[in-house]
Amino acid sequence: MSTDRVAKNAETEPLNDEGRRVVLQKPKNLVNRDKRRTVGEIHVDNPRMTCRNVDVHYGNKQAIRDVSLDIGRNEVIAMIGPSGCGKSTFLRCLNRMNDTIDICRVSGEIKLDGQDIYDKHIDVVPLRVQVGMVFQKPNPFPKSIYDNIAYGPRIHGLAQNKAEMDEIVEKSLKRTGLWEEFRDRLDKPGTGLSGGQQQRLCIARTIAVNPEVILMDEPCSALDPIATAVIEDLIRELCKQYTIYYRNSLNDPGVARFPTDSLLSPR
Ligand code: ADP
Repeated sequence: MSTDRVAKNAETEPLNDEGRRVVLQKPKNLVNRDKRRTVGEIHVDNPRMTCRNVDVHYGNKQAIRDVSLDIGRNEVIAMIGPSGCGKSTFLRCLNRMNDTIDICRVSGEIKLDGQDIYDKHIDVVPLRVQVGMVFQKPNPFPKSIYDNIAYGPRIHGLAQNKAEMDEIVEKSLKRTGLWEEFRDRLDKPGTGLSGGQQQRLCIARTIAVNPEVILMDEPCSALDPIATAVIEDLIRELCKQYTIYYRNSLNDPGVARFPTDSLLSPR
């Protein structure tokens, strides 16, 4: 994969019928994988994350070659590209999820707020709190709605007592629009919610531990159009506080209307 950042802070892009900015970059001529390079403006002022010359290999096979880009603050970056071009691999580099794959080797430099996340002294557990992740398929724990949210804060000692934990749960569910509906049913299993609600629950679980960046790996691919629109609105709202790095598939019609600040596409 290589990348082309287009339409950073696309204030000049047209609005669609729903008043959202439409930023769509069609892939240009796809060139031989070995010859792809990062092109375009990859720098932003005061970036949250910086990636420089990132290569990823699975055994002898190179999946990502020489990717450099900045990830700004409070922006939504969407990454599109054909299946197999390395989107997921790159996303997983950003919170070291690739560490869990034995044959995967990452080189180059990736920094979060100036700190090299691949430094040997970095503990990946707090890193994955700072750079949280929402997966393609909603994956609530087989626990109550309350305990799905409380799980992370409990592990990381973010609440001193039950009142503080209640507050975290309430705030997280409010931010994802689930509070009003489920405030009286917090003991119900998270797995009993609809697909879209489950994905919102997973997003609530992610923000409950105060991340700085949220990685989203095709978070709407398993959802119907209405649930997708709700999640997209939520992403736009959440980016006021968080940086969102979003992976989408090239053929997903949602890409055309997704309200991004920046869009990365293969060349
Ligand atoms: P995308 O997300 O764009 O579909 P991926 O990042 O999943 O692409 O894959 C990029 C390349 O890396 C593909 O050729 C894929 O086969 C390979 N790959 C991905 N994950 C693994 C893995 N766990 N082991 C070996 N090869 C992998």
